[in-house]
Amino acid sequence: MFIKDIFSSKKPVLSFEVFPPKQDSGLDAVLSAVEEMSSLPIDYMSVTYGAGGSNSKNTGQIAAHLKDKLSIPSLAHLTCVANSKEDIQKKLTEYKELGIENILALRGDKPRDFDGEIFPGYRYASELVGAIKNFGDFCIGGACYPECHPDSPNIETDIENLKIKVDAGVDFLVTQMFFDNNEFYKFRDKAVKKGINVPINAGIMPLTNAGQIQRMAILSGGASMPSKFVKMISKYQDNPEALKQAGIAYAVDQIIDLLSNDIDGIHLYTMNKPETAKKIVNVVNNLF
Ligand code: FAD
Repeated sequence: MFIKDIFSSKKPVLSFEVFPPKQDSGLDAVLSAVEEMSSLPIDYMSVTYGAGGSNSKNTGQIAAHLKDKLSIPSLAHLTCVANSKEDIQKKLTEYKELGIENILALRGDKPRDFDGEIFPGYRYASELVGAIKNFGDFCIGGACYPECHPDSPNIETDIENLKIKVDAGVDFLVTQMFFDNNEFYKFRDKAVKKGINVPINAGIMPLTNAGQIQRMAILSGGASMPSKFVKMISKYQDNPEALKQAGIAYAVDQIIDLLSNDIDGIHLYTMNKPETAKKIVNVVNNLF
């Protein structure tokens, strides 16, 4: 099923993101986590792709498992950094053979310890979108950044580039995580003004442990943290159970506010944790 058809028939949409294991030996654990999450009322699940090939081997396999064994529409991520055009053609052939219908087309970041040519094939995700469209009939998603992508000089330039990507053939967007909904609303207004009319799925990452704080700051590209979020962290970071509960409540609060403001969907960065996903969905499932 094409994810663009889910967005056109339902609002808001609820999706989850999972990541593949670093080693093949971890595959069973990931499959059992996605199986547990598949009992929740979600519309699709996305599977990340380790840029440059590190933990990207199982992305297609997990996405196919979701679709074929668990009847959950899946979205396989794909990055073009450090890949030649031939590498991308091979990956697209693999995705086609696995019956993958939806791809999140990404540039990716330079892999750690990589000393080869960074962009031997495609320079920007928009170019990858063009290659996917030429290859075959896929529904294509793209990433967007409410608080500006770190490589862009300002949000206006970033949104101009986003418009190029959408015009190349992106059917829907998924945002980088953010902790301040106002940043999302400002971004959405600017994107709409620029003529970006595809659905925008809002990415929410619940904070569930202190070890995640630094990683979140890096992964989010420096997303702003409202003072109530910072206060919550400093109050509970030495109490794991309290921090988990507060982090989940914060994510729920963000989701309810977003749903009250007419968003297209919520994309939950699950970190492969069914327990967290269940706790959140059990509170908000009647809102979808
Ligand atoms: P692009 O859209 O190519 O943008 C990158 C930068 O280039 C931006 O600053 C943009 O403004 C600029 N730009 C774009 N087009 C032009 C142009 N024509 N001229 C000049 N400048 C331009 N990474 C992974 O490795 N694996 C994943 O699975 C993964 N999943 C992700 C999922 C989501 C929802 C998000 C938000 C990010 C994900 N990432 C993933 C991270 C992503 O790969 C990085 O953020 C990367 O730095 C940018 O990727 P992009 O596809 O947004 O790039």
